Amino acid sequence: MIYLDNNATTQVAPEVFEAMQPYLENCYGNPSSAHALGRKMRSAVERARADVAELLGASDANEIVFTSCGSESDNWAIGGFLEQNPNRRHIITTRVEHEAVRNLCEHLAQIGSEVTWLEVDQNGEIDLDDLRRALRRDTGLVSVMLANNETGVLFPVEEIGRIVRENSDAVFHVDGVQAVGKIPIDLRAWPVDLFAVSGHKFHAPKGVGALYIRGGIQLPPFIIGGGQEGGRRSGTEAVPNIVALGRACQLARQFTGHETVRGLRDRLEDEILARFPNARLNGVADRSRRLANTSNISFAGLEGSDILAMLDDAGVCVSTGSACNAGSQDVSAVLRAMKLPFPIARGSIRFSLGRYNTGQEVDQTLAILSEIIRGSVAQTSVCD
Ligand code: PLP
Repeated sequence: MIYLDNNATTQVAPEVFEAMQPYLENCYGNPSSAHALGRKMRSAVERARADVAELLGASDANEIVFTSCGSESDNWAIGGFLEQNPNRRHIITTRVEHEAVRNLCEHLAQIGSEVTWLEVDQNGEIDLDDLRRALRRDTGLVSVMLANNETGVLFPVEEIGRIVRENSDAVFHVDGVQAVGKIPIDLRAWPVDLFAVSGHKFHAPKGVGALYIRGGIQLPPFIIGGGQEGGRRSGTEAVPNIVALGRACQLARQFTGHETVRGLRDRLEDEILARFPNARLNGVADRSRRLANTSNISFAGLEGSDILAMLDDAGVCVSTGSACNAGSQDVSAVLRAMKLPFPIARGSIRFSLGRYNTGQEVDQTLAILSEIIRGSVAQTSVCD
C-alpha cells in the first residue's frame, strides 16, 4: 500500500506507540488519585502538556487543554466564546474552513449569530482588505484556518491577527489542525487567542487533541464535572492518548525531514502537471504559500471518485477532497468557493504526503497514475 492521504490521518509513529503502551498496560492509574500510581499519571499528563506548549510556542503550559479531537477544539473555541459573550454575536470566518468550523458557523447563524463569510479567490486565498472591511466594533470572534486541509493553502494568520487586534476587540481563533507538525508555530509571538490541534494529523492516535487558550481569555467549561483540566474540561483524562500526543509533539520538534517531504511532493506535482495535459493545480502555484506535503490536482473531464477508486485498486490511498466528503456526490465546498468550473472541480484528487513516504512510492504512483489517466481519457473519448 502507498499511503498518500496524510491530511486525512497519519500512521501512529512507532515511538508514539511505544510511549503510550505502558499507559494501556501497567500504568492505569487515575491522575486525580492521591496515591503513587495516580501521581505518576498526573506527572505524565503534565509532561505532555509541556510538550504541546513547547511545540506551539505557548508561553505557559496551562494555556493548553486536552480535548478529544480537532473538531471538539474548534467547537469549544467558537461555541464557548459565544456562550460567554452572548452580546457579541458577529463572527467572521472564511468559505473554505473545515466542516468543524464551517458547519458550526452555519448552525450558529441559524440560531441568531451574524456570520460574515470571507470569500477566496481562484488560488484559495483571502483578500485582507475584505477582512478589514468586515471587522466591526461589535465583532466578537474571527476564526480562520492556518492551513487548508484540501489544498494546503496557508493563510497569513500572524498578519490576520494583527489586523484583528488593530481594528476590533474581537477574539481570534485559529484552526491549526493541518499545520501542526508541518510548519513552525509561535503562539508567543502571534496575535492568536485560541488555537485548535488534532493529534491524529501528526502521528498520535485518533481521539486526542488540544485547545490553546491564551492566558486571560475566558471560555466556559466544555464539560462540567469533576473539575479536571483546571475545571475547563472535566472527565478522567485519556492518559495513554495524552502521553501519545506529547510524544508526537516531541517528534515533530525533532523532525528534520521536511525538505525531503517537500522534494517528494514537488516531484509528484511537477511530473503530474507535465505528463497529463488535462491536469491542473488547485491552490496557489507559489509553493511557499502552501503546505509542503499537499498537492490538489484536477484531471479535467474525469471524475475524481473514479480515479480514486482505480488508485485504490492499485493500492494507492488518496482523497478527493476533505475526508469527510468521501462518498458524497457533492463537489467540495472548498473548490466551489474557489469558483472552479464544475468539470474541473469534480476531477480533483488530493495527494498528501508524510514522513514515511519514499521516492520509490512517488515513482510507483506516477506509473500507476499514467495507466489510469491514459486509460480513462481514451475511454472517455471512445464513449463520447
Ligand atoms: N480542521 C481541519 C483543518 C481539519 O483538516 C480537520 C480534519 O480533517 C479538523 C479540523 C477536524 O479534526 P478532527 O478530525 O481531529 O476532528
